[in-house]
Amino acid sequence: MRTGLPCTFIRLAGCNLRCAGWPCDTPYAQHNADGHSYSIARLIEEVPSWPPYITWTGGEPLLQEDKLLEAIRRFEKLHFAQDLFTNGSRRIPQELLHKAIMIVMDYKLPSSGEYGQMIETNLKQLRHQDVIKGVISTQEDFDIFITDTQDLRCNRIVTPAWGKIEPVQLVQMIQEKAADIRLGLQIHKYIWEPNLRGV
Ligand code: SF4
Repeated sequence: MRTGLPCTFIRLAGCNLRCAGWPCDTPYAQHNADGHSYSIARLIEEVPSWPPYITWTGGEPLLQEDKLLEAIRRFEKLHFAQDLFTNGSRRIPQELLHKAIMIVMDYKLPSSGEYGQMIETNLKQLRHQDVIKGVISTQEDFDIFITDTQDLRCNRIVTPAWGKIEPVQLVQMIQEKAADIRLGLQIHKYIWEPNLRGV
């Protein structure tokens, strides 16, 4: 939804899933040991004040829920806009649902290898400002995504799994089903070398 805006990515190490069906974008963030320890005070010191926009991602950031919430509160006081990317398998803290933060939640589909890991009650709590995102490799993924998410209030976005399907194929699926969903592209992979760490 904010694609194209400059922002600071803060990537929290550790993930409870293993999406074996397609290459994880961030294998270097799957284990806690891959990260570095940061205090919130140090983060505040090091995150640039411009752009005043942070994306919290991982790994799975909600594995560090308490510290994450504390950091979000602190950056909120500093007037940062914030997004939270989550894999959908952790309960969304109620506190976040009362904040302006945009929640971008994955909907893991069969090709990911982690289908069925999402917490169902999370889905209905997503608001108009939030996003449910399906990474699509196959027609089956697409069909399941549009069926399973059709009653949600939030924005629905599909994006092609990198190296598995071409964007034009996904566009055709959207056109054929006349589905009320948006196409999302991982634009960083078109701008930089896609396998570069941090991209
Ligand atoms: S949920 Fe995300 S970070 Fe975790 S293994 Fe899957 S793609 Fe990688």
